[in-house]
Amino acid sequence: MNTTIYNFSAGPSMLPQEVLQQVQNEFLNWNNIGTSIIEISHRSLEFQTIVQELEQYLRELLDIPDQYTILFCSGGARGQFDAIPLNLLGNDYSADYVNSGYWSNSAMLEAKKYCLPRKINVISQIENKISIMPMKEWNLSNNTAYIHYCPNETIEGIAIYEEPNFDNKIIVGDFSSCILSRKINIQKYDLIYASTQKNIGPSGMTVIILKHKLLNIHNKLLFPSILNYKTLFKYQSMFNTPVTFSWYVSGLVLKWIKKQGGIHFFEKLNFQKSKLLYDTIDHSNLYINNIHQRNRSNMNVTFKLKKPHLNNIFLKKLNKHGLKFLKGHKIVGGFRASIYNAMPISGVQKLVQFMIQFEKKYG
Ligand SMILES: *Cc1c(COP(=O)(O)O)cnc(C)c1O
Repeated sequence: MNTTIYNFSAGPSMLPQEVLQQVQNEFLNWNNIGTSIIEISHRSLEFQTIVQELEQYLRELLDIPDQYTILFCSGGARGQFDAIPLNLLGNDYSADYVNSGYWSNSAMLEAKKYCLPRKINVISQIENKISIMPMKEWNLSNNTAYIHYCPNETIEGIAIYEEPNFDNKIIVGDFSSCILSRKINIQKYDLIYASTQKNIGPSGMTVIILKHKLLNIHNKLLFPSILNYKTLFKYQSMFNTPVTFSWYVSGLVLKWIKKQGGIHFFEKLNFQKSKLLYDTIDHSNLYINNIHQRNRSNMNVTFKLKKPHLNNIFLKKLNKHGLKFLKGHKIVGGFRASIYNAMPISGVQKLVQFMIQFEKKYG
């Protein structure tokens, strides 16, 4: 019997089957040029078409206005934990770092190398559930260089759906695990960034969308040119040789997103997918998720078993049913279903059916 495999990995994560198939088909001979796309110069005319499409699809899908510049770079989201303070601090010595979980906290720890970050704790409890304080209650400062926050905490499965509305503040968002998953108003942000391996493509590339005027900030520190937004801009993101494979496949994924119906389509689908899982969890006596409804992630659904001695058998059976990579991150334990755009609803349906059957038998 052939079991369909569904990959719930948090990142690198599953890519659309259609895209992988196309990559396979044209891998040895891209567009009849007689070589693979990854064997040619990033400055060649052929590769230029890929770069142009990449930028064009991103602008279109996210509705990015002209006063924003898009940069593509290496070094992952973690590279941006350094690049952001280095590029944006200017003459300031402090920045506001909103703490909502592992990744936002990691960004703050890295920023400590360059400034005195103000840690702003926004996690609270409502009816014994983890929730994030509404933005108007965030204890922000009037005189720091910028605010950094993370709208989707990939490890805990905590999301912030509210969009920022702070006057005269530079707002920076780590969208690594939620970019392209729902509609956002780009104009509410000054800089958003995302590494590709969650919802865009293979690992290797980082996308930065920033207001052009941020390039005018005078950096007082000397720092590596590959982290410098001015340098990246000047060289059109090709100061060093880009990760051409990741740029190429990411472009195909964006094209696929557009073909399926764009962000509007995926926002609805992602809501349906996550609702299926949360409803199953809430209606069961075995599974538990203790995040308040308004802050539940629709990209990373985390849950635990009320009978932890069943953890191993649960995982073993998941695997046997072709439901892969659901083990939670080691710092929170339990289980995590990462259901990015590429995960079809059939995968979530199969997971939910499995969970219901498992509870019947072992719960
Ligand atoms: C995965 C992830 C990161 C780290 O990304 P790297 O590309 O490994 O540096 C940072 N922030 C968030 C929200 C993530 O999901």
